[in-house]
Amino acid sequence: MKKIKVFEVGPRDGYQNVSALIPTQEKKKIIDGLAKSGVTHLQVTSFVSPKAVPQMQDAREVAVYCKEHYPKLDILALVPNLRGAKDACDAGIRHISYVVSLSESHNKANVNRTREASVRELKEIAFSYPDMKICVDVATAFGCPFEGKPADGELIRFVGELYSKGFREICLCDTTGVANPRQVREAASAVMETYPDIEPAVHIHDTRGMGLACTLAAVEAGVSRIQSTLGGLGGCPFAPGASGNTATEDLVYMFREMGYETGIDFEELLKLSKYQKSVIEGNYSGHHVMITAPQACGKRGGR
Ligand code: ZN
Repeated sequence: MKKIKVFEVGPRDGYQNVSALIPTQEKKKIIDGLAKSGVTHLQVTSFVSPKAVPQMQDAREVAVYCKEHYPKLDILALVPNLRGAKDACDAGIRHISYVVSLSESHNKANVNRTREASVRELKEIAFSYPDMKICVDVATAFGCPFEGKPADGELIRFVGELYSKGFREICLCDTTGVANPRQVREAASAVMETYPDIEPAVHIHDTRGMGLACTLAAVEAGVSRIQSTLGGLGGCPFAPGASGNTATEDLVYMFREMGYETGIDFEELLKLSKYQKSVIEGNYSGHHVMITAPQACGKRGGR
């Protein structure tokens, strides 16, 4: 039975798009529920400026809580820069996600610098924190709201650049949900064939209802690491048209029914998704609706 590693990124990717502050206690409760359901890889927060993303102002508290209560789980945080990496490290985090967009325009809109500058900072983080595991999230890997589809070979060239700098954990992110299953299968296969020691993951938004199909296409091509959010929360404030991520419960159900092993209890997860919905009711109205964050501006590392 093929094993799928599910990376739940809702407490970061989902919550950063909820405008009303979710009480820290509730975040912890939902993380408890995720752990109880059998989720073992959790991206729990992001170390961004609290001015830019007030929702993440409790990053340290959430991270410390998770590291204390779940020392055996893979606890990740997103960091947009060196400062964020320092804060994450101080909070005990040893596995971070760092976002770089394949498209220059999206990188500018998302983190206000060139792609080259982003890669430079990534190298600095790796140099300053040699024990930190780093997952590089390649945003707009399959298309960008400003530039359209990447040129032929552009993704693999960029992955090659990251590879040459020593990065092996790479996530192909469909930031605005424009990918199709064939494109995802071909891209994932190309990455794995060219760089057999890269551990690719996929992170697919569900804008056109193709989240399940695209994620499955990646898995059938050999990918075993996937990112998703409970309840399909998410979006990207700097990518017009981006809607939520593929819902973790939908993926877990699909994989269970198809005989893949995720180690996650679907029924528990579904209950938790309903609970989460009640917590953020009013700010959340389903997978396919963009959740706006009117207060958001500046660096937040969305993808
Ligand atoms: Zn996302």
